[in-house]
Amino acid sequence: MRDGVTPGTQPGLVDSFGRTIDYVRLSVTDRCDLRCRYCMSERMQFLPRREILSLEEIAALADVFIARGVRKIRLTGGEPLVRRGFLELVAAIGTRIGSGLDELTLTTNATRLAQFAQGLYAAGVRRVNVSLDSLRADRFAHVTRGGDLAQVLRGIDSARAAGLAVKINTVALAGINEEEIADILRWCGSQGHDLTLIETMPLGAVEEDRTEHYLPLDRVRRALEDSFDLTPSLQRTGGPARYFEVGGLGIRLGLITPLTNNFCDGCNRIRVAATGTVYGCLGHDQKVELRDAMREGGVEEVNALLDRLLARKPRRHDFRIGLAAAPSVARHMSVTGG
Ligand code: SAM
Ligand code: SF4
Repeated sequence: MRDGVTPGTQPGLVDSFGRTIDYVRLSVTDRCDLRCRYCMSERMQFLPRREILSLEEIAALADVFIARGVRKIRLTGGEPLVRRGFLELVAAIGTRIGSGLDELTLTTNATRLAQFAQGLYAAGVRRVNVSLDSLRADRFAHVTRGGDLAQVLRGIDSARAAGLAVKINTVALAGINEEEIADILRWCGSQGHDLTLIETMPLGAVEEDRTEHYLPLDRVRRALEDSFDLTPSLQRTGGPARYFEVGGLGIRLGLITPLTNNFCDGCNRIRVAATGTVYGCLGHDQKVELRDAMREGGVEEVNALLDRLLARKPRRHDFRIGLAAAPSVARHMSVTGG
């Protein structure tokens, strides 16, 4: 399957609302070395390994997407850097940069980034998103259930030293990091990292009541405007974030507000779970299963399934913040590929 890629030779991925899909988020594992409270249950059950696509299958799937006009791929999870052989996968997909693929990136918790940064750069990665919800070691350990902040900061430093641009993602959590967000923004300014704030989304059951920690970002923005000059930026990435230039800091602030603002009109993406299940929307169960098609049917069957997915891709998500016991969508972000 891998040798057959010729970018743009297959019809593009366009849904029934005329939205062109040129961005795919590919989850390489549902496993993780942390257990962030809003993301996973403490006793998270992970998928059996036989259900997970092999690295070769993931690379082959990337080629199918590139052939159909996908220009950006983000590798995610779970924690992508815990997948054995991950760098080989990055190197394989990285060979397509400049011949169909514009960008290959990843989202990581950075616990292993110090070991991987140079290899990622060598394989063609130029930017990484790092999730970091607190700069206070005790709070970071609390949110992640045991994470080591110093290790993550070393990972971020190594990424910069290797030439990778770093964007920080912070989930805004009432009663946990709300009063620290201005400090995180200042720190990002001092380090030259853009910052994106994210509202908690009701994905998968966790022990916590997400309602308790749900923090609407319009409240955060108003509080930040007391101390910072935020100028709305016209930049759109086809994603859910709205961006602001932060006066004096020379960085951009992004706000992802799925609950207070619906972001779906310009949606340009689909998400592939590590099992080969492809979801049309983070907030719906609409999906197709590619694993068996890849193993038994080949490229034509995979393409037919993608067409079926696109024909029914939902217009918008229907998130409502609810109790942890009754999430809007049963699967966790770590399964869908956040
Ligand atoms: N482990 C990697 C990381 O943490 O960056 C990649 C996967 S993680 C699922 C991707 C992003 O999803 C992280 O920024 C995380 O904070 C976010 N996330 C996870 N569960 C979420 C939820 N229920 N609501 C909002 N964001 C969530
Ligand atoms: Fe792991 Fe990322 Fe989920 Fe945290 S947010 S538990 S680091 S997958």
